Amino acid sequence: MLVAINGADESRVEAGNAVKGPSFTCPGCKAPVTLAKGRIRRPYFGHRPGAACSYAALETWEHQQAKEDFAAAYRARGLECDVEIEVLSIDGDRRADVLLHAPDDAYHVVLEVQNSPLDYTALEVRTTAYLSAGVPVIWVPILIRKRLDNVQRITGTNIYHVSHFSAPPWQFWIHDLQGGLWYYDPVVRGVWRGLLDDCMLYRNPTSWFADGDEHSAGGHWYSSERWSSLFLEGPFDLSRLRVKRVKRPGRKRRTYRLPGGIGADFLLVDDPRDYTMPVRIGSTKANGPGDFHYYRVERRIDDQWVGASLEASVLPDIALTEG
Ligand SMILES: [Zn+2]
Repeated sequence: MLVAINGADESRVEAGNAVKGPSFTCPGCKAPVTLAKGRIRRPYFGHRPGAACSYAALETWEHQQAKEDFAAAYRARGLECDVEIEVLSIDGDRRADVLLHAPDDAYHVVLEVQNSPLDYTALEVRTTAYLSAGVPVIWVPILIRKRLDNVQRITGTNIYHVSHFSAPPWQFWIHDLQGGLWYYDPVVRGVWRGLLDDCMLYRNPTSWFADGDEHSAGGHWYSSERWSSLFLEGPFDLSRLRVKRVKRPGRKRRTYRLPGGIGADFLLVDDPRDYTMPVRIGSTKANGPGDFHYYRVERRIDDQWVGASLEASVLPDIALTEG
């Protein structure tokens, strides 16, 4: 927990700015909490053992760091934001991870950092509650690098392809709502633009004899149930993110519902890319997995369209270590 109430003046205080001395209480259950300032972990407030409070759940350091980084990047631009502030009247934990104030408080946008599984209903209930409160939410999953095997980089881009990615169901929900994903990367403390796609696999043909006849099966491409493919572009520094509001229609996808209304999304300033995310073309059971096409945007220079299509080849495995 990053925020507590300072007993001296009843003000909200963030652990990073707090000094030991005054008594601190939990904004939820009002019980005393302790400021923990260790040498390794970042400062936080902790409940007494066994506290029955929905705010008492331990969170991962990645989650805590994400909230602090997003808040710090936003404040560095001279803008206001709150961490772990209550904005909703729904059951359970009513805190938003980060609440961004637009200039002059024209509107607010919530960032929800997500690290643990959430079912579709919980995502829908929470997103709808934010929508009805007039506060759009951007869901930000945390990128777990050890789940990324066999990473390849697409030539000429800063796009990486993970061919066999085990995408948690809740990430699909966010992906479909927002038309893509923005992953927070706790290692470089930046974000990646993410795109999920089908993972196409080939089933080898087999044939056998039974009852004097030859039978055969397989020999076709299919979309994997277990795997997805993931494209990651980045990483981008948090200082380059801007927030925009977008209007979304309510939609049905796969087995779930995506609420419509005024939502929000990130925008990247000084977007350096002159290419688009890959597009898969011509993927059917009949003609194979399809090809990935990467496009460079054509630019008009001295009355001439200048453009080049990118190679759709990939480099050998590399680690996502570049800053
Ligand atoms: Zn509490």
